[in-house]
Amino acid sequence: MSMISARSKRTAGEAVPSLLSTTMADGAVRCGVCAHRCLVRSGRTGICGVRENRDGVLYSTVYGAAVAVAMDPIEKKPLFHVAPGSRAYSLATAGCPFHCVFCQNWEIAQGPRLGAWPPVRALSPERAVAEALEQGARAVAYTYVEPTIFLEYALAIARPARAAGLLNLFITDGYATPEAIGLLAAVLDAANVDLKGFDDAFYRRRCGARLVHVLEALEGYHRAGVWLEVTTLIIPGENDDPAELRELTEWLVAHLGPETPWHVSRFFPAFRMLDRPPTPLASLLRAAEIGREAGLRHVYVGNAPELAMEDTYCVGCDTLLLARRGYQVFRQLSDDGTCPTCGRHMAGRALAQGAAAGPVPCG
Ligand code: SF4
Repeated sequence: MSMISARSKRTAGEAVPSLLSTTMADGAVRCGVCAHRCLVRSGRTGICGVRENRDGVLYSTVYGAAVAVAMDPIEKKPLFHVAPGSRAYSLATAGCPFHCVFCQNWEIAQGPRLGAWPPVRALSPERAVAEALEQGARAVAYTYVEPTIFLEYALAIARPARAAGLLNLFITDGYATPEAIGLLAAVLDAANVDLKGFDDAFYRRRCGARLVHVLEALEGYHRAGVWLEVTTLIIPGENDDPAELRELTEWLVAHLGPETPWHVSRFFPAFRMLDRPPTPLASLLRAAEIGREAGLRHVYVGNAPELAMEDTYCVGCDTLLLARRGYQVFRQLSDDGTCPTCGRHMAGRALAQGAAAGPVPCG
């Protein structure tokens, strides 16, 4: 992939020609990376703020420009059915196609749009993979912002990462186009997708996005064989209506299957949504109950340790398989990823002790 010097006023990163872009006769470029499908005119950027039309060619301006790098427990993503107890080398660039008013990472997600770029660390794909291995990671997680917006950089890391035996994980708002999912499917092992609600008006008003595209991406990843876990942040008065949650969880069961883990997460005031209280524990319990009634077999409650609802039980016989206290995991699961009582496989990826990347069959 060719590179040009890209020390624009907005970023200290490099720029590479954007994948999935189509130049029009008038020099505008249609981007096909995320579901916004921006028509970007010359000299302008797309909604994410990090894809720029320079003389009729669209560039990703964040290639090799990390703004957040950390080693995280895989449970923090959260991914509860992928290599439990391991750690993920986690990275992000700036930018996001969503404009969530409750964003917890708004400094890096919204920085480009707000004209305030966060400090950038030049990090080559080769160096990222080397650091992940040196630090004992089991996986590389593309996270903190919607990773689709740094698709070229993610692919450049993911390919050698997979070759080195690392898992690749997307922590995503679910806005990749089918074409982007087609590119990612070859290297992605698992994704946690934020399904922020089940009301298109909420998505439009609070996130600057559309529900239908998130549902399409969920189905696209599922069809591509990527292991999926889904997270819903329950915000008081916004998306906690029981009827809406019933619809959401019934959709998960019907389209992704009853063993898809659903993470109900507690909201705390952030960014431009400071006028709401933290989610009452009773609302979280009610949401979890709705999910179970819909038929979901693995419902977890996050950001609420007092509820202790983060353990994994066997779907076949209800034996405790994985107990979680904070980010500590206490494993009862057999070394081969099966239930020690009934022998049923736990659904997920890389569940056997020391397992390489690859699917584990459901029981
Ligand atoms: S990645 Fe999405 S938001 Fe960014 S330019 Fe492309 S279509 Fe627009």
